[in-house]
Amino acid sequence: MYPKSLDRLIESFLRLPGVGKKTAERYAYYIVNNFSKDDIEKLMENLSGVKDKIKRCRVCGFLTEDDLCEYCSDSERDQTTILVVEEPKDVESIERCRKYHGLYHVLNGSISPLNGIGPEELNLQTLFKRIKESKIKEVIIATSATVGGEATALYINKILENEEVTVSRIAYGMPVGSSLEYNDETTIMKALEGRKNMR
Ligand SMILES: [Zn+2]
Repeated sequence: MYPKSLDRLIESFLRLPGVGKKTAERYAYYIVNNFSKDDIEKLMENLSGVKDKIKRCRVCGFLTEDDLCEYCSDSERDQTTILVVEEPKDVESIERCRKYHGLYHVLNGSISPLNGIGPEELNLQTLFKRIKESKIKEVIIATSATVGGEATALYINKILENEEVTVSRIAYGMPVGSSLEYNDETTIMKALEGRKNMR
């Protein structure tokens, strides 16, 4: 039996995605053996920092410490294009290929009836509102090449049927079933360039 405090630390690591018992134990040991008091304090500060400071951008849903995220508050970016992704990390993937200079919209997931996630559970209303109220000319849908990602793309396209915007879907030369984060910059760049009009 581990001492209680060590057990509790292992329990905390076990809550992280992709971390099993062995890895959780390895992290816990590592901290006990290698972290100084300063390291621990820094870690605690960073952990509480993300909880206290990070919130969703009120326009696009990306993560920010301010009211607006760095993309929404950047007037240099193309204000006529919105690229729609499932997760904040997808924004980072697109940014890494340095090919896209428009705005973003983060849905926080995709439609998944099996998991009880319908359109109402996603950050969609603000998207439709943005499109109605601003000068958006093109909506690029970059949800993943999964059943849920496809269903979400079709749903958005349907809702925007009567709006005067081009709705395009990025070209999945990417393997089917893949999400953006597993693809390198060149693949993402090609997917963007080869996007197809959904109408
Ligand atoms: Zn934003």
